[in-house]
Amino acid sequence: MGSCLFCDIAAGKIPCTEVHSDEKFLAFRDIDPKAPTHILVIPRLHIAGLSELQNTDTDLAGELMLTAARIASSEGLDEAGYRFVINCGQDGGQTVGHLHLHILGGRQLHWPPG
Ligand code: AMP
Ligand code: ZN
Repeated sequence: MGSCLFCDIAAGKIPCTEVHSDEKFLAFRDIDPKAPTHILVIPRLHIAGLSELQNTDTDLAGELMLTAARIASSEGLDEAGYRFVINCGQDGGQTVGHLHLHILGGRQLHWPPG
């Protein structure tokens, strides 16, 4: 298997600005933020993206969302609101092939996204 940027970040080989860490997930600030708060939440397990999720990943997928919601709360985003984004594949705009959930907040977000 080739190298993976987010596996390297999860392994501590590449630095990040950590927001949350537990045995299953790591959250860190996006290096090129698209909103005042822009955090990426990744499973430590390498899953290439949404289209690779298996039936056995049900708990992981649910815990990813719950973990991200708790991080959004701890960032103080509940009252004003926020958005989760998971890009998948080329048309979805996915640029890193390791499943990650974007938490975006701190400004009015546009809809529909571009
Ligand atoms: P996506 O386009 O959905 O695949 O999102 C990938 C995200 O990873 C982008 O928002 C990038 O800015 C972000 N990113 C790329 N490299 C790093 C890095 N070394 N540390 C933190 N975020 C990164
Ligand atoms: Zn990976």
